[in-house]
Amino acid sequence: MAQSRLNRLLQYGLKAAPQGPIKVEKALSDYINSYFDDFYAEGFFNDIDEKNDHEGHVKTVQVNKYERSSIARNKCIDYWGKNCLICGMDFELTYGEYGKGFIHVHHLRPLYMVKKDYIVDYKNDLIPVCPNCHAMIHRIPNGEKLSVEEIKQKLGLCIKEHE
Ligand SMILES: [Zn+2]
Ligand SMILES: [Zn+2]
Repeated sequence: MAQSRLNRLLQYGLKAAPQGPIKVEKALSDYINSYFDDFYAEGFFNDIDEKNDHEGHVKTVQVNKYERSSIARNKCIDYWGKNCLICGMDFELTYGEYGKGFIHVHHLRPLYMVKKDYIVDYKNDLIPVCPNCHAMIHRIPNGEKLSVEEIKQKLGLCIKEHE
């Protein structure tokens, strides 16, 4: 497993297993970033939507280039709804008031591929997903990602098309 991941990095231009900090070529850094950008932007580690701390102070940890996608995130939820588009999970229904407003937003067009001035299309680029389905979208068990449709099929759910 670890070996095949290293092989992949080597494929993308890594010279050898790094022993410390190294400089990497763009193709390799894009490849590596593809694993992180989306996660950071969507709240795997930091929910982009929760900008205020408990005292209402604005957090300064938000990354500028994702500020706009926060607006797109809200538009995405306005458009698609607040439930997971794959399994239908509704956090407010499950967790009551505490879960209200919680949902991840998955970027169908990975942010690392998006130019700085690209305006996120909240209808076609973003979908609301629960963290479970989100993790499944990003899971790469055999080096191949499943599409959103394929994950829906795995769940055996037939999600009504959004008109
Ligand atoms: Zn889900
Ligand atoms: Zn995602």
